[in-house]
Amino acid sequence: MALEPRSERQRAAIDEIETFSAHNYAPLPVVIASAEGAHVTDVDGNRYIDCLSAYSAVNFGHGHPALLAAAQAQLGKVTLTSRAFYSEPFGPFVKALAELCGKDMVLPMNTGVEAVETAIKTARKWGYETKGVPEGRAKIIVMEGNFHGRTTTVISFSNDEEARRSFSPYTPGFVHVPFGDAGAIEAATDDDTVAVLLEPVQGEAGVIVPPLGFLTEVREVTSRHGVLMIADEIQSGLGRAGATFACDREGVIPDIYVLGKALGGGIMPLSAVVANRDILGLFRPGQHGSTFGGNPLACAIGSAVVDLLATGEMQERSCVLGERFRAGLQPLLDKGWATAVRQAGLWLGVDVNPDLGTAKDICYRLLGKEVLAKDTHGHTIRFAPPLVISLSDLDAVIEHTLAAFADAAGHV
Ligand SMILES: *Cc1c(COP(=O)(O)O)cnc(C)c1O
Repeated sequence: MALEPRSERQRAAIDEIETFSAHNYAPLPVVIASAEGAHVTDVDGNRYIDCLSAYSAVNFGHGHPALLAAAQAQLGKVTLTSRAFYSEPFGPFVKALAELCGKDMVLPMNTGVEAVETAIKTARKWGYETKGVPEGRAKIIVMEGNFHGRTTTVISFSNDEEARRSFSPYTPGFVHVPFGDAGAIEAATDDDTVAVLLEPVQGEAGVIVPPLGFLTEVREVTSRHGVLMIADEIQSGLGRAGATFACDREGVIPDIYVLGKALGGGIMPLSAVVANRDILGLFRPGQHGSTFGGNPLACAIGSAVVDLLATGEMQERSCVLGERFRAGLQPLLDKGWATAVRQAGLWLGVDVNPDLGTAKDICYRLLGKEVLAKDTHGHTIRFAPPLVISLSDLDAVIEHTLAAFADAAGHV
């Protein structure tokens, strides 16, 4: 199916983008001009329900009033000092985030992958300086099907050939085990192992929820072997999976949280590594840093984000709306149009029966029904609407999704 823009105006805007920007994405053909809450509006004035939330960076909705107010108040004061000086919003942010995580310390960065890189450096440093691993031998266990970002080190341990090909040589020091298999983690652990790095729910892989008990077993195995458990909660955290952190689903507390995406409220890139003093306290001046990391504007927004999570209302909405969404999509399974529906909070992965076409075909049909969702890995659609979506909008999404699949089935 050709993915046609809905107007000549959108076609012209897309042509300009495709002419002058590198083609490292394959977007749906819609050009967005404005957004509010769970809705985005294209340049022709068509209004859509956003079911991607910028890969969960907009968990609290577009232009959340409390986040915009925090940003606007800070914009007029100071936006960037660098870490050469202290800034006023920095302290309240790191204190609030440390408390949210139940940890001692925060190391702020900007993008998610920078926080992952920071966690890798942290684990290696801890391994050499505290655990006593001989220099150059630190090993980190990672999961098959992982997604942790796009830097050369991080793609070194991706299993996605598209993400890796032509970008070698790769960074050594990582070993893979199947996601969901704690026995394989234990078998792969040796004296040089410093950390296990995992997404508690794999997002880019298609909302892959591990078997219940897996995170608990990982916690037990890593504790017993003196290995750090690093939870990359960049996409799963901050309410998306029905709790503050996806690890909370099993009451598991990792040694290191890696956060990003929604931490910046969809306004600023803001990421962080959060851990106790015996781990993050190992850093000395000059050993790590970022010009924009911990900037006053991002910190002011980050504090407001932590405040939004304080009442538990967002986490509750994620649980309740997620259940409703999954139940509403049951007909897709009953009719055989979907081969699987996975859910963690308000976060769903739907595997499209290949007889109906690709996930992108269905997303294109949804676009025509004014619902924006994104395919991943060919046959999976990921749904992650903002947690502030109304019940009536969610019911509309369910109805349009069933209709889009029905249309596709009718065209088989
Ligand atoms: C998005 C994501 C990243 C990378 O974040 P960027 O801000 O794109 O660098 C890392 N880990 C997970 C689990 C993610 O979902």
